[in-house]
Amino acid sequence: MPKPRFDKFREECGVFAVYGHPEAANLAYLGLYAMQHRGQESAGISSSDGSTIYTHKSMGYVADVFPPERLALLQGPSAIGHTRYSTAGDTVVANAQPFSVSCNKGRIAVAHNGNITNAPELRRSLEQDGSIFQASSDTEVILHLVARSRERTMAGALREALLELDGAFSLVFLAQDRVIVARDPNGFRPLAMGQMELSGGRICYVFASETCAFDLIGAVYLNDVEPGEMVIVGPEGMTRQQYAPPRQRSHCVFEHVYFSRPDSFVFGRAVQESREMLGRLLAREHAVEADLVVPVPDSGVAAALGYAHESGIPFRHALIRNHYVGRTFIEPSQAIRDFGVKLKLNPIRALIEGRRVILVDDSIVRGTTSRKIVRMVRGAGAREVHLRISCPPTVSPCFYGVDTPSKKELIAANNTVEETRRFVEADSLGYLSLPALRRAVGDEEKHDYCYACYTGGYPTELVCIEDLIRAKTRR
Ligand code: AMP
Repeated sequence: MPKPRFDKFREECGVFAVYGHPEAANLAYLGLYAMQHRGQESAGISSSDGSTIYTHKSMGYVADVFPPERLALLQGPSAIGHTRYSTAGDTVVANAQPFSVSCNKGRIAVAHNGNITNAPELRRSLEQDGSIFQASSDTEVILHLVARSRERTMAGALREALLELDGAFSLVFLAQDRVIVARDPNGFRPLAMGQMELSGGRICYVFASETCAFDLIGAVYLNDVEPGEMVIVGPEGMTRQQYAPPRQRSHCVFEHVYFSRPDSFVFGRAVQESREMLGRLLAREHAVEADLVVPVPDSGVAAALGYAHESGIPFRHALIRNHYVGRTFIEPSQAIRDFGVKLKLNPIRALIEGRRVILVDDSIVRGTTSRKIVRMVRGAGAREVHLRISCPPTVSPCFYGVDTPSKKELIAANNTVEETRRFVEADSLGYLSLPALRRAVGDEEKHDYCYACYTGGYPTELVCIEDLIRAKTRR
């Protein structure tokens, strides 16, 4: 039996697609630039001029990967793009996207945000049948399924391939003469659709993980690609079709808690609004007497604003962030992760000294960053440090595309709140409750979100759970 080579899955990515614009690659570049926060490890764009698909991808930030002379080579009126973040051990260009191949259906490129949870099983079976994989990513599985499909059209083959997949996927495909995008039937990861008006009144369609990408290129946000929906844009126009019946919606709540930019609309909702409400509800649930509300920038800013408004305690930017430090510094090892906090943040002693500080952050994962920050604030003379977290304790790893470590490393999975408080060395610690989180994202009645990282209740059957856990533990 061939040895399974699956050892990593897609995580924390941004995708973009455009059809029918004279500057397609430039738009993809700008769209990715706006979504740099969704992945800083590699970036890539594929474009099509109707017959050839051009691809350039490399490790690094979008602006570094695409100097003007590289971008100029990506010709044609349609393009897809991808930014990727991953942890150590898998930082290889072979896993950078888009993946581009030639098969019996023509040339095709694909980029993916999410995590296909049955990829290990699909891959094992494809390898047994002779498929050869080039990278360790789950996205390649899709291309092999497309190539093997008996359907004659690209859209038909894609539909057939998508029906084989489990888990989270917001996908953008580029064929020679069309762009096809699709979202998994649970709608885990976001995928927004927008339009731009070209000269002569012609409409051009764009797609992106976050609407902040549309703002930069002057596109108008129309709506979201629906869960289980496929949108095809080609010479004949745009068609939307439900390729699979939608399931229980499971939008990733962490997009609103942390991951998306506050100026984006995600799952049809303003992220800033959700975050401020998280802070307001946190103030109601975990009030404490203090002199200042201080955000951990940037992730805690909106929630801290909400906390300050609700509590009436003054908001002060007392931790200054160095914006020129990439996430690279907190990736490879614990030693460097600790160093990274100092590189990134510095307290303003004049604001903090002798004060009782409420420190607001979005989440505690391992607890080590929080402890560093609490120590830093205390080191700047704070009399008390009260840590407030704008989501419930993170107790279970995500298998749908957010980079959380294994359960073993999640501090809240193995400790009580009081034990965690002692570990992070705060005077008090308060997490937002699950009902309040649901209220903040407008999900009290609807049940449209996935809360698995806070509850351990995974909304899909995880058939390859051992492979998934192994992949998490390997970091
Ligand atoms: P720690 O508790 O030391 O593991 O780190 C918590 C910090 O990491 C918080 O400030 C969060 O904003 C940030 N954080 C939480 N989840 C993620 C994630 N998936 N990727 C990157 N940073 C994260």
